[in-house]
Amino acid sequence: MDIKSIIDDVTEKAGSLAKSAVKKTGEAAETAKFKFLIKSEQKKLDAMFTELGKLFYKQVKGTDVRAQAKAQIMEIDEQKRIISDLKSAIIETAGKMICDSCGKAIDLEHTFCPECGKKIEPKLFFDHEQECETDAVSDDGDETSESDDNQ
Ligand SMILES: [Zn+2]
Repeated sequence: MDIKSIIDDVTEKAGSLAKSAVKKTGEAAETAKFKFLIKSEQKKLDAMFTELGKLFYKQVKGTDVRAQAKAQIMEIDEQKRIISDLKSAIIETAGKMICDSCGKAIDLEHTFCPECGKKIEPKLFFDHEQECETDAVSDDGDETSESDDNQ
């Protein structure tokens, strides 16, 4: 399951909660939504660790569950990745990004990380944020009236 579908899935449930918690800006509402998501994904992670504990118990008692435990650990790693992506998304919503090298949150206008000096490669977490990029390029034609084209 990718992170976008998880967000789509939980957004509905989180919607009313986020609205009642924060009525200020869209940005704050977004942040509240992500915090709600992180909490619910964190709960899933806790449950996964509980399950892994049960498997360990069985293993010690003499039942071979190594294959199941390995699969469980892979799921846990995936879940951790989802949570870390959500945390990054919160920071991006707040107008910052994460340095790939040192992991610090830095302002978007930086080209080089002020912490470690590494060049920043901006990365976006959600496809819809890239939609606006295409508009900026189509600026080569004649510069007559724009109203004719708007239909
Ligand atoms: Zn850095």
